[in-house]
Amino acid sequence: MTLTAGVVAVQGDVAEHAAAIERAADEHGHEVDVLEIRESGIVPECDLLALPGGESTTISRLLHREGIAPEICAHVEARKPLLATCAGLIVASRDANDDRVDELGVVDVGVERNAFGRQKDSFEAPLSIAGLEEPFPAVFIRAPVIDDVGDVSVLATWDDRAVAVRDGPVVASSFHPELTPDSRIHGLAFFENEETTLSG
Ligand code: GLN
Repeated sequence: MTLTAGVVAVQGDVAEHAAAIERAADEHGHEVDVLEIRESGIVPECDLLALPGGESTTISRLLHREGIAPEICAHVEARKPLLATCAGLIVASRDANDDRVDELGVVDVGVERNAFGRQKDSFEAPLSIAGLEEPFPAVFIRAPVIDDVGDVSVLATWDDRAVAVRDGPVVASSFHPELTPDSRIHGLAFFENEETTLSG
Protein backbone atom coordinates (compact mmCIF):
# COMPACT_ATOMS: atom_id res chain seq x y z
CA MET A 1 0.00 0.00 0.00
CA THR A 2 1.32 3.43 -0.89
CA LEU A 3 1.08 5.94 1.95
CA THR A 4 0.04 9.53 1.40
CA ALA A 5 2.20 12.12 3.15
CA GLY A 6 1.40 15.80 3.42
CA VAL A 7 3.84 18.64 3.93
CA VAL A 8 2.19 21.87 4.99
CA ALA A 9 3.54 24.26 2.39
CA VAL A 10 2.49 27.71 3.47
CA GLN A 11 6.17 28.43 4.33
CA GLY A 12 9.47 26.75 5.15
CA ASP A 13 11.57 23.80 4.01
CA VAL A 14 8.91 21.94 2.08
CA ALA A 15 11.12 20.17 -0.45
CA GLU A 16 13.58 19.13 2.27
CA HIS A 17 10.80 17.62 4.39
CA ALA A 18 9.39 15.83 1.34
CA ALA A 19 12.82 14.34 0.58
CA ALA A 20 13.35 13.29 4.21
CA ILE A 21 9.92 11.62 4.29
CA GLU A 22 10.76 9.72 1.11
CA ARG A 23 14.11 8.55 2.53
CA ALA A 24 12.57 7.53 5.87
CA ALA A 25 9.75 5.67 4.13
CA ASP A 26 12.23 3.85 1.94
CA GLU A 27 14.32 2.88 5.00
CA HIS A 28 11.19 1.46 6.64
CA GLY A 29 10.01 -0.39 3.54
CA HIS A 30 7.10 1.91 2.63
CA GLU A 31 6.08 3.55 -0.62
CA VAL A 32 4.97 7.13 -0.22
CA ASP A 33 3.38 9.90 -2.28
CA VAL A 34 4.07 13.38 -0.94
CA LEU A 35 1.51 16.16 -1.34
CA GLU A 36 2.07 19.85 -0.63
CA ILE A 37 -0.67 21.43 1.43
CA ARG A 38 -1.70 25.02 0.77
CA GLU A 39 -5.46 24.67 1.01
CA SER A 40 -8.08 22.74 2.93
CA GLY A 41 -9.31 19.34 1.75
CA ILE A 42 -5.93 17.62 1.38
CA VAL A 43 -4.99 16.89 5.02
CA PRO A 44 -7.89 14.41 5.40
CA GLU A 45 -6.31 12.32 2.58
CA CYS A 46 -2.98 12.10 4.40
CA ASP A 47 -1.65 9.21 6.48
CA LEU A 48 1.14 11.35 7.90
CA LEU A 49 1.90 15.03 8.07
CA ALA A 50 4.86 17.41 8.47
CA LEU A 51 4.51 20.97 9.69
CA PRO A 52 7.74 22.79 8.76
CA GLY A 53 9.45 25.83 10.25
CA GLY A 54 9.31 29.38 8.97
CA GLU A 55 7.68 32.23 10.83
CA SER A 56 5.12 30.98 13.32
CA THR A 57 2.96 34.12 13.20
CA THR A 58 2.60 33.83 9.42
CA ILE A 59 2.05 30.06 9.42
CA SER A 60 -0.59 30.34 12.13
CA ARG A 61 -2.48 33.07 10.25
CA LEU A 62 -2.50 31.14 6.97
CA LEU A 63 -3.47 27.81 8.54
CA HIS A 64 -6.52 29.42 10.13
CA ARG A 65 -7.41 31.55 7.11
CA GLU A 66 -7.28 28.55 4.75
CA GLY A 67 -9.19 26.24 7.08
CA ILE A 68 -6.23 23.86 7.39
CA ALA A 69 -5.87 24.30 11.19
CA PRO A 70 -8.94 22.24 12.21
CA GLU A 71 -7.94 19.53 9.72
CA ILE A 72 -4.54 19.16 11.40
CA CYS A 73 -6.25 18.86 14.80
CA ALA A 74 -8.56 16.15 13.40
CA HIS A 75 -5.53 14.33 11.93
CA VAL A 76 -3.89 14.20 15.39
CA GLU A 77 -7.20 13.27 17.03
CA ALA A 78 -7.33 10.26 14.67
CA ARG A 79 -3.83 9.25 15.92
CA LYS A 80 -2.17 9.82 12.57
CA PRO A 81 1.47 10.91 12.93
CA LEU A 82 2.53 14.55 12.76
CA LEU A 83 6.09 15.91 12.82
CA ALA A 84 6.23 19.60 13.73
CA THR A 85 9.57 21.40 13.48
CA CYS A 86 10.73 24.76 14.81
CA ALA A 87 7.99 27.28 13.94
CA GLY A 88 5.80 24.19 13.38
CA LEU A 89 6.37 23.28 17.05
CA ILE A 90 5.39 26.81 18.09
CA VAL A 91 2.15 26.63 16.09
CA ALA A 92 1.37 23.09 17.31
CA SER A 93 1.97 23.98 20.97
CA ARG A 94 -0.55 24.71 23.71
CA ASP A 95 1.03 28.11 24.45
CA ALA A 96 3.31 30.08 22.14
CA ASN A 97 3.57 33.01 24.56
CA ASP A 98 2.74 35.31 21.66
CA ASP A 99 -0.70 36.76 20.95
CA ARG A 100 -0.07 36.71 17.21
CA VAL A 101 0.07 32.90 17.21
CA ASP A 102 -3.26 31.06 17.43
CA GLU A 103 -1.96 27.70 18.67
CA LEU A 104 -3.29 24.33 17.49
CA GLY A 105 -2.84 22.91 21.01
CA VAL A 106 -1.87 19.42 19.81
CA VAL A 107 1.39 19.32 21.82
CA ASP A 108 1.05 19.83 25.56
CA VAL A 109 3.90 22.33 25.96
CA GLY A 110 4.49 26.04 26.27
CA VAL A 111 7.34 27.49 24.23
CA GLU A 112 9.50 30.57 24.15
CA ARG A 113 10.17 31.84 20.63
CA ASN A 114 13.71 32.78 19.55
CA ALA A 115 14.99 31.58 22.90
CA PHE A 116 18.70 31.17 22.15
CA GLY A 117 19.48 34.88 21.81
CA ARG A 118 21.34 36.72 19.08
CA GLN A 119 24.77 35.18 19.44
CA LYS A 120 23.53 31.63 19.35
CA ASP A 121 20.87 32.55 16.84
CA SER A 122 21.74 29.59 14.60
CA PHE A 123 23.98 26.66 15.38
CA GLU A 124 24.43 22.94 14.87
CA ALA A 125 24.90 20.49 17.72
CA PRO A 126 25.10 16.71 18.11
CA LEU A 127 22.05 15.81 20.17
CA SER A 128 21.27 12.64 22.07
CA ILE A 129 17.70 11.68 21.24
CA ALA A 130 15.66 9.06 23.07
CA GLY A 131 15.13 6.18 20.66
CA LEU A 132 18.20 6.91 18.48
CA GLU A 133 21.48 5.12 19.06
CA GLU A 134 23.86 7.75 17.68
CA PRO A 135 23.65 11.53 18.27
CA PHE A 136 21.61 13.48 15.73
CA PRO A 137 23.13 16.50 13.92
CA ALA A 138 20.58 19.10 15.00
CA VAL A 139 20.39 22.42 13.16
CA PHE A 140 18.85 25.23 15.22
CA ILE A 141 17.73 28.39 13.41
CA ARG A 142 16.23 31.14 15.60
CA ALA A 143 14.80 28.22 17.47
CA PRO A 144 12.24 28.08 20.27
CA VAL A 145 12.74 26.17 23.51
CA ILE A 146 10.10 24.26 25.37
CA ASP A 147 9.89 26.02 28.72
CA ASP A 148 6.67 24.47 30.00
CA VAL A 149 6.67 20.69 29.68
CA GLY A 150 3.17 19.23 30.09
CA ASP A 151 2.09 15.61 29.69
CA VAL A 152 4.66 14.70 27.00
CA SER A 153 7.81 12.57 26.69
CA VAL A 154 10.96 14.65 26.43
CA LEU A 155 13.11 13.15 23.66
CA ALA A 156 16.04 15.59 23.80
CA THR A 157 17.40 18.48 25.82
CA TRP A 158 20.00 21.13 25.07
CA ASP A 159 21.45 23.27 27.88
CA ASP A 160 18.99 21.54 30.23
CA ARG A 161 16.04 22.72 28.17
CA ALA A 162 13.68 20.48 26.24
CA VAL A 163 14.11 20.72 22.47
CA ALA A 164 12.28 17.61 21.25
CA VAL A 165 9.16 15.93 22.64
CA ARG A 166 6.56 13.33 21.79
CA ASP A 167 2.91 13.85 22.65
CA GLY A 168 1.05 10.74 21.49
CA PRO A 169 1.06 10.76 17.68
CA VAL A 170 2.97 14.06 17.50
CA VAL A 171 6.75 14.47 17.53
CA ALA A 172 7.92 18.06 17.74
CA SER A 173 11.41 19.56 17.66
CA SER A 174 12.95 23.00 18.13
CA PHE A 175 15.51 22.15 15.46
CA HIS A 176 15.32 21.29 11.74
CA PRO A 177 15.77 17.54 11.12
CA GLU A 178 14.98 18.05 7.42
CA LEU A 179 18.18 20.04 6.86
CA THR A 180 20.56 17.08 7.12
CA PRO A 181 20.66 13.89 5.03
CA ASP A 182 19.88 12.02 8.27
CA SER A 183 16.22 11.01 8.22
CA ARG A 184 16.10 9.19 11.57
CA ILE A 185 13.81 11.77 13.21
CA HIS A 186 11.32 11.42 10.36
CA GLY A 187 11.58 7.67 10.79
CA LEU A 188 10.99 7.96 14.52
CA ALA A 189 8.01 10.28 14.10
CA PHE A 190 6.25 8.43 11.30
CA PHE A 191 7.22 4.77 11.39
CA GLU A 192 8.45 4.00 14.92
CA ASN A 193 5.85 5.67 17.11
CA GLU A 194 3.55 3.11 18.68
CA GLU A 195 1.00 5.80 19.52
CA THR A 196 0.05 6.15 15.86
CA THR A 197 -2.10 4.38 13.31
CA LEU A 198 1.02 3.52 11.25
CA SER A 199 2.89 1.59 13.96
CA GLY A 200 0.40 1.04 16.80
N1 GLN B 1 11.90 32.21 14.84
C1 GLN B 1 10.80 31.59 14.17
C2 GLN B 1 9.50 31.82 14.92
O1 GLN B 1 9.55 32.17 16.06
C3 GLN B 1 11.05 30.11 14.01
C4 GLN B 1 12.27 29.89 13.18
C5 GLN B 1 12.28 28.64 12.36
O2 GLN B 1 11.26 28.00 12.11
N2 GLN B 1 13.45 28.32 11.88
O3 GLN B 1 8.46 31.67 14.38
